[in-house]
Amino acid sequence: METGKVSVSTRMYIGGEWCDAIHGGTLKIENPADESVVAEVAYGGRDDAERAIQAASAAFPAWRAVSTYDRAKILKKTAELMRDRADRIARTLTMEQGKPLIEARTEVLHAADTFEWFAEEGKRAYGRIIPPTNIAKRYLAIKHPVGVVATITPWNFPAALPSRKIAPALAAGCTVVCRPADQTPLTVLEMFECLIEAGIPKGVANLVMGEAIPIADAFFANPAVRKISFTGSTAVGKELIRRSADQVKRLSLELGGHAPLIVFPDADLKQVAQAAVIGKFRNNGQVCIAPSRFYVQEKIAADFTDLVVEITRGLKVGNGLEPGVQVGPMFEARALTKTASLVDDASAKGAKILTGGKPSTQFPKGHWFEPTVIRGVSPEMRIMTDEPFAPVMPLLDFSKIDDVIAAANNTPYGLAAYVFTNDLTVATRMAEGLEAGIIGINDPVPATPQCPFGGMKQSGMGRELGMEGLDAYYETKYVSLGLRDS
Ligand code: NAP
Repeated sequence: METGKVSVSTRMYIGGEWCDAIHGGTLKIENPADESVVAEVAYGGRDDAERAIQAASAAFPAWRAVSTYDRAKILKKTAELMRDRADRIARTLTMEQGKPLIEARTEVLHAADTFEWFAEEGKRAYGRIIPPTNIAKRYLAIKHPVGVVATITPWNFPAALPSRKIAPALAAGCTVVCRPADQTPLTVLEMFECLIEAGIPKGVANLVMGEAIPIADAFFANPAVRKISFTGSTAVGKELIRRSADQVKRLSLELGGHAPLIVFPDADLKQVAQAAVIGKFRNNGQVCIAPSRFYVQEKIAADFTDLVVEITRGLKVGNGLEPGVQVGPMFEARALTKTASLVDDASAKGAKILTGGKPSTQFPKGHWFEPTVIRGVSPEMRIMTDEPFAPVMPLLDFSKIDDVIAAANNTPYGLAAYVFTNDLTVATRMAEGLEAGIIGINDPVPATPQCPFGGMKQSGMGRELGMEGLDAYYETKYVSLGLRDS
């Protein structure tokens, strides 16, 4: 099908002006479904980032002085505009990222809800009054915005992930410089159009597109940038930790995951199989909290396997803009190569492919992999150790609760985990025993703006969303107030 071009702005937004890259560069944005060019955007580097940092730095004192109530009005208006334009923004998102339109729309609405949540939460940044030991003193803990915040986000959720950084930073009184992933700037450009129309003052929110490393160099070198909020791979996250040392730059890190999904025999198998397939193949498995290791109690393993294979075979694969499509293309060509190599490795080490297992040749262009289910998986296979980020469901059996907790925790990651059971004792033991920052019990899609989101172990540092997600953009300042005698 003909997908055409998008009509959003394609320029950077710095200091309240739409602008081209200083050195005139541009980058073509491709639709992963058919490799057609959907837009050509301004594309710069370090100099553009420096300009944006200066603008954000100059705007900070005035924005910090705006009342939280007035800041909230702009953020709520942004949310309203995003909801009004949800269909259009979702279409842009599908065209640059590939996911089905229905998923894109849900994501845009989640991003709008995130703006609204932080608009309201900003009003509740109370601080504390602490009882003094000396009656001639008063102790206060007050919230102070961190300052200029730089954001770096990946391609897999181009609306949700930037909103989790931009909205709380602005609500807290920080100014921002946003750098979206190379191949998915268009959804963030749509978001900026909403922010601008909602009345965001000049320099408060800036958008820079360009090569990641030179832009990150500017963020790290310039002391005006007080914090970097990053979502991406654990490998790049570790590099940012090392680089942050020189200026003790604040970091929030949302990194990779390898989530277990565990099914106990008392669960409703049909419902769980449906939830497992939806959770696995959402955005083609290219989701940080996607379930990627499926542990099924041995008594029900055969029945569960039959169900998931049948449901997976029935998934409608196609261009995300077509009605009824449940699985779109993968994001890029190298994702196909990586997915194929993980499946080949598992197969060579004894796993059995029950459905799918190879790149799809159904479509003339684009990056397509068949939704895949494999069994007979063992811990040394790469699909169990590398973050897969792929439409592959590896099935494993377990017998006892302690064994499955140990197996689930046997990874450096600790982002999400899923448990399906109707037994309260089992649910509680699992919730307490699993090493993951997000646990869905009978819930395959737990992320929501009002609850904390983030990882344990090598899945990250800090939390987004919830009240913790606002706190990440404040310093706590302690004030001791000595009183005069009399
Ligand atoms: P990535 O390679 O780490 O890239 C993430 C972002 O960082 C992109 O904007 C990328 O730019 C930029 N980048 C790459 N190298 C950089 C460097 N040396 N310095 C500064 N920035 C750099 O991750 P990805 O493969 O694109 O994204 C998938 C990863 O993100 C997965 O590991 C996934 O689990 C994780 N993720 C985590 C969460 C969470 O909330 N925990 C959510 C979503 C995704 P370019 O794209 O332009 O190269």
